[in-house]
Amino acid sequence: MSECIFCKIVAKEVEAKIVHEDPLCVAFSDVKPQAPVHVLVVPRKHVASVNDLLPEDEPMVGHLVLVAQQIALQRGIAGNGYRLVLNCGPMGGQSVDHLHLHLLGGRSMGWPPG
Ligand code: AMP
Repeated sequence: MSECIFCKIVAKEVEAKIVHEDPLCVAFSDVKPQAPVHVLVVPRKHVASVNDLLPEDEPMVGHLVLVAQQIALQRGIAGNGYRLVLNCGPMGGQSVDHLHLHLLGGRSMGWPPG
């Protein structure tokens, strides 16, 4: 059995507040939200990070972005804007080694990020 926490959420072995599911991905609320809206969009397939993406993953990565777009619309943050983040590796701030797209919104985002 996979020890990956996001694989366990995808497999419903660990609880999460799931906001979207389809054949390619699952989206759920971040357990430690950094903004009023903080959702993680994760592929069902275990891919450790952006570094591990293959050419065949291109449609899946595009799908994650379009799912985030739809959730932003549903949450009413599309008009004011939001941030999509893909952290990669330790210096990129990645703490869970399963690819995930952060959707952050509902407050003003500073730049550069901390
Ligand atoms: P990152 O630092 O980019 O790897 O982001 C990992 C994110 O996963 C963090 O924002 C965590 O708060 C979040 N997280 C970790 N475990 C869980 C969990 N069990 N359910 C929901 N979010 C989680």
